[in-house]
Amino acid sequence: MKAVRYHKPKDVKVDTVDDPKLEHERDAIIKVTETAICGSDLHIYNGKIPQLSNMIVGHEFMGEVVELGKQVTNLKVGDRVVVPFPVSCGSCFFCQHNLYPHCENSNEKHYGPEGALMDQKGAGLFGYTDLYGGYAGGQAEYVRIPYADVGPRRVPDALTDDQVLFLTDIFPTGYIAVDWANLKGGETVAVFGCGPVGIMAQKSAWLHGAGRVIGIDIQPYRLEKAKKVANSLVINAAEQDVVGIIRDMTEGRGADVCIDAVGMEADRNTLEKVVNTVTGQVGTTNVLESCFSTVRRGGVVSVVGVYGSHYHNFPLSQFFDKGLTLKAGQVPVQAYIDKLIRLVEEEKVVLEDIITHKLPLSEAPHAYEIFNNKKDDCLKVVLTP
Ligand code: NAD
Ligand code: ZN
Ligand code: ZN
Repeated sequence: MKAVRYHKPKDVKVDTVDDPKLEHERDAIIKVTETAICGSDLHIYNGKIPQLSNMIVGHEFMGEVVELGKQVTNLKVGDRVVVPFPVSCGSCFFCQHNLYPHCENSNEKHYGPEGALMDQKGAGLFGYTDLYGGYAGGQAEYVRIPYADVGPRRVPDALTDDQVLFLTDIFPTGYIAVDWANLKGGETVAVFGCGPVGIMAQKSAWLHGAGRVIGIDIQPYRLEKAKKVANSLVINAAEQDVVGIIRDMTEGRGADVCIDAVGMEADRNTLEKVVNTVTGQVGTTNVLESCFSTVRRGGVVSVVGVYGSHYHNFPLSQFFDKGLTLKAGQVPVQAYIDKLIRLVEEEKVVLEDIITHKLPLSEAPHAYEIFNNKKDDCLKVVLTP
């Protein structure tokens, strides 16, 4: 089959590889009908998360069940399914507590994000490096799904692939970022990042009853898109004083909730310069720090943008002084997906309006390049095998 494999930083290729086979009675094989490129794939692409072998990448995908292991009784050959990106057994302590990306039975390698051997097991994710279990990803014609009795969900016939594909990752991710903040209604929600995840968080803020939604980015075309598809007020962080504007809008208090949907990709040139008062060193704030400055006292900061290394300027005193709540992590898609499919079915939310490019799988290298470099007003690429 054809599959997109990582070779070295900035180099993915469409290679011919062996078709996947059932390896366990709880496996399924699906024939991929659509797969997307995620901001998280760019971490591998840009060499920010180490990947040693030429693995098949991609964790956002859906398709048709073509083979089933004996123990998978909830699916039938021919079913159309979307597949959550965490690989999770469904029965360990963490899965039983809805903490699917912390499954104890999906990553035997015990590695953490920086490649260090951890003292506890970590998550298993499709197509997201050997550190996360080394599972072949879904940017391919076929993919093996471990624990297929737990993850994949059948999708209603009336919905197209485009309408449901983002249930695999970015809609649940945007949704949980807001859900963590327990909105009561009427709040001001500021979302840093108007990439696919940030825009999904902005759409989700309205679904949770926000009174005002603000999208922040440094790419004018992405700000325009956020205005259009998420009905957000927008601020260009490369040109405007985000903290000042949001404080002015909130009688000096700051936003009730700040969401970091940028993570370690933040363009450091655009970030605020700060001087460390103890060492005198000049550094830059990152988006997480901007969230801490922008959120009101007693507010919530949700971090869904990925950070893959230690960070030594964590604003602990501000965190303490403002009495903040901080939530972060990979999203337990399995815990949210059924509810979110219904929101799509009931037309409470539209997901496909962020797709700017649909390309054949064979054009994956070009697709990575335009998504990474924000060329051709690229916001979200869908690949069709
Ligand atoms: P993306 O790279 O398309 O979006 C990032 C956006 O941040 C871009 O629009 C970029 O212009 C903007 N940006 C860069 N520097 C900025 C700055 N200084 N201030 C404001 N905006 C800035 O990626 P995406 O697909 O939207 O994903 C966003 C993040 O979410 C990534 O880190 C990705 O890995 C992560 N993610 C996490 C989960 C999870 O489970 N937690 C799931 C999916 C994606
Ligand atoms: Zn993703
Ligand atoms: Zn588990």
